[in-house]
Amino acid sequence: MKGKQLFRTTFRVMVLSALILSFALTACATMVNTVLGPVPAEKLGTTLVHEHFVFAYPGWSADATIAPYDFSEALVTNLGVIEAAQRHGIETVIDATTNDVGGRDPELYKVLAKATGLNIICSTGIYTEHEGSPAYFKTRQEWYGTDITKMISEIFITEITKGIGTSGVKAGVIKVGTSGGGPISRYETAVLKEAVVAQKATGVPIITHTDGPAGGVEQAELFLSEGADPKKVMIGHVSNSGDINYHRAILEKGVYIAFDRIGLDIYNPTQVIVENIAQLCKEGYANRIMLSHDTVNYWIGRPYEPPEPALKALADWRIDHISRNVIPALKERGVTDEQIRIMMVENPKNLFLGK
Ligand SMILES: [Zn+2]
Repeated sequence: MKGKQLFRTTFRVMVLSALILSFALTACATMVNTVLGPVPAEKLGTTLVHEHFVFAYPGWSADATIAPYDFSEALVTNLGVIEAAQRHGIETVIDATTNDVGGRDPELYKVLAKATGLNIICSTGIYTEHEGSPAYFKTRQEWYGTDITKMISEIFITEITKGIGTSGVKAGVIKVGTSGGGPISRYETAVLKEAVVAQKATGVPIITHTDGPAGGVEQAELFLSEGADPKKVMIGHVSNSGDINYHRAILEKGVYIAFDRIGLDIYNPTQVIVENIAQLCKEGYANRIMLSHDTVNYWIGRPYEPPEPALKALADWRIDHISRNVIPALKERGVTDEQIRIMMVENPKNLFLGK
């Protein structure tokens, strides 16, 4: 083979190999179910990991004659909310609304995502015994001895792999929770265990609700004892507690923690949360922490006027509080731009990658 010909052949082989490699890398990329279809985890960008576009506590349907769910109103409200988030560079929002409360609306999420370009990740999940709807499952268990565990994992896996109802939307995370501290109830234990079964079957992350200033350690221990991947578990609402030793104790389990009620000052003032996050960053935990607000941007049900003190405590409970107030406050306390990027971009991505 002449020199020129050899060069051409070698060049072609190199180009072909590069193409095959890039194709293989794309095919291997971990895809995340968003409401408009799969997106590579690397493309999620700046993410709020626990918000609610629409929410109602179970029981709202009793009031639906007087206060029915208004899709158009929920749409208009949330378009404004998303615009405010996007103004600060938010690219992805995980909606943490479970199946058994009011407000999980895949059709609405699709319209919102199409109109705004925001990535929206929808949950499959079952809420706490205390504030969810356990009656449907518990009566079957108690009256007929039905194996509710099998029912529960079947729901989670079906919604992740096939979709939610007829919406075509596949869930991207499993959301579960527990009521308060102390031992986890029989019902909630079943739900948490089945979340692990679904994670093993689908590879999808588990995110949680903890009630009050406790319960995170017990949740992490239960997940680990069932064989969950700790790097695909995010223990939520740790900002309910101002005790940094509680945060450290959960982190020791190797899971992610989320200060995801920032602005809900009825639990803890933003200032206390900021101090704790800054301290944990100093201790090297920036790669295990995520931030969000747990906002409810549209409540289903009758409008009500919270009393003055509650209004004051909820003044910063809004989708842009972290961007506008919390990040500057963290920087003032020595948290670096890189640590903020890790908490807002890298960790949400790595939760899906299991890193
Ligand atoms: Zn929530």
